[in-house]
Amino acid sequence: MRTLALILLLAVPGVAERRIAITFDDVPCAGPRPTLAQAEDVTNRILEALAAYKVLAVGFVNEARLQVPGERDRRVALLERWIAAGHLLGNHTYSHADLDKVTIEEYQDEIVRGEVVTRALQPESRRYFRYPYTHTGATPERKGAISRFLSARGYTSAPFTIENEDYLFEAAWAADPAKVEATYDSYTDEVVAFAEKVSRDLFGRDIPQVLLLHANQVNSMRLSAMLSRLRARGYTFVTLEEALHDPAYATRDDYVGPFGPSWLHRWGAALGKPKPMRGSPEPPAWLHPQ
Ligand SMILES: [Zn+2]
Repeated sequence: MRTLALILLLAVPGVAERRIAITFDDVPCAGPRPTLAQAEDVTNRILEALAAYKVLAVGFVNEARLQVPGERDRRVALLERWIAAGHLLGNHTYSHADLDKVTIEEYQDEIVRGEVVTRALQPESRRYFRYPYTHTGATPERKGAISRFLSARGYTSAPFTIENEDYLFEAAWAADPAKVEATYDSYTDEVVAFAEKVSRDLFGRDIPQVLLLHANQVNSMRLSAMLSRLRARGYTFVTLEEALHDPAYATRDDYVGPFGPSWLHRWGAALGKPKPMRGSPEPPAWLHPQ
């Protein structure tokens, strides 16, 4: 019976081959001013869930989040825990700079300042960079200037194909955790299913997906459930490096503008299929700040 089940599974195109890389932004802990206790709690829970599912993630660090007087060593220790667990750290600028709101020189300085502590802990962390808000440049000049600066420094820009508006759920969390939890799980399922559909529309197959999450409370509480649901959809967890080896990720990103869309959207133009994300799931209206 088990052999038959395996053969049937392999006979369904794509299903047995689903792969996903998990990435976290705003490491060690998202939010305007998380306490050390909150940052430790979020780190503990996220690393525990990743270990349980044998996920090797990338954590994109804002080093400004370490610079709290009296707490620096203990906040740096949180980064050391990511590294000790086998994860790769990356650069997310020093203080979460928005490329649309600072000069090119200021942004370059944010990149340089953003790697000082992290690189001393993990030399290979000067490898992936994630643009805050995934704002990659609203003009060709800005996009080109920072893209060249990153390449010269050895960085690859880390794309994402799926995000689940986790920051909106995070903002609503304190008021009604039970309601947020239930909606968060189902909304994540919806955006994953939608990305699979777009992936097939663009490439004719399920490409390896890259999920963008934040190191925040809602994920610390729901990550185990999320990984379990992804596994049930046929996913295996791969590193960002393995996902980016897929030829889909060599597709040009021609997007220039003020938003930070999924790379699935960006690739649409290059593949002659503009607006591939039309009809993407909207988070529930009650989540939006009034
Ligand atoms: Zn961020």
